[in-house]
Amino acid sequence: MKKAQEEMRGKGGLCPSGGRILTSKVYTYIVCILVMLSLAACGTAGSPLGEDSTRLLRPVRSVGEVLGEEVAGQATAAAPTIPATSSIGPEIPAPEDGDWTDPPTEEERSPEMLPSPGQIIGGNVNNRRIDPSRPMLALTFDDGPSAHTSKILDLLDTYGGKATFFVIASRVERNASTIRRMADEGHEVLGHTVSHRSLTSSSLSERDIRREILEAHGAIEAIIGTPIAPMFRPPYGNVNQRLRDVSRDLGFAIVNWDIDTQDWRSRNAEAIHGVVEKNVRNRSIILAHDIHAPTAESMETVIPMLVEMGYQLVTLSELMHFSNKELTAGNLYTHGR
Ligand SMILES: [Zn+2]
Repeated sequence: MKKAQEEMRGKGGLCPSGGRILTSKVYTYIVCILVMLSLAACGTAGSPLGEDSTRLLRPVRSVGEVLGEEVAGQATAAAPTIPATSSIGPEIPAPEDGDWTDPPTEEERSPEMLPSPGQIIGGNVNNRRIDPSRPMLALTFDDGPSAHTSKILDLLDTYGGKATFFVIASRVERNASTIRRMADEGHEVLGHTVSHRSLTSSSLSERDIRREILEAHGAIEAIIGTPIAPMFRPPYGNVNQRLRDVSRDLGFAIVNWDIDTQDWRSRNAEAIHGVVEKNVRNRSIILAHDIHAPTAESMETVIPMLVEMGYQLVTLSELMHFSNKELTAGNLYTHGR
């Protein structure tokens, strides 16, 4: 019995019941029985299935769950550097869940929702009549939604144009009805981070960058209830190699612009109109901000002017689709030419 008792003590770490053995012989006997029973019930140590069986049974996690774990794991060591994967092409099939061998990749990717690194990714193209032989461009509005957004939506509705809104996640929930209206009316809603901090700042870890991108993406999908294209716009348009690598790993394309209305600087409707009129080209991506009243005001003349000039106002996904641009994770796009 003593020998058995020592063996039990030796295995005590395997089950929570191991540990204290009472001095009374009767109690010791009972405890021995209980420990052996619980060892048999635990049963996983030495099982041929082991961890793999639990991994197979683990449900696919949502982006929110992945992020929740990231928050809980903030104190752990920094994630290993992700090597450049430019040689990985779209012909490589995405591994099935459980086949990921790179620990940070397994933790941070939700394979059901996001493409694999370097994969060509599609956008969400509306089922509407667009003539690829005619000029088109993408109006994009950043940093909203705000009290001025509905005016822009009204104008787009009046002239039959579609636009893309890069929204900040912290504004999404309190403007949920505006986000839903955007989606319902055929506009594209994409993420513009949570905090609007520059993603090239050295004060942000790779983990921080992933959170900024994924949280914004997930917040929008939670509101509109359907998947959105894996694209985002970095604050200030700042892009460096690290951001490209993280974006590629997450399966996101980066979208900036080729025409900056400078509305954030001029705060003047006439000036905004002038910049667009002077610089507009076929397949342009135009940057404006729906948080400024003069920007919304400028659209009263900018949108009809563009329609008058023959431009079809399309979403980013539509622009890329009809420009035969294959959106590739980790790549930066600034126009559809
Ligand atoms: Zn911005």
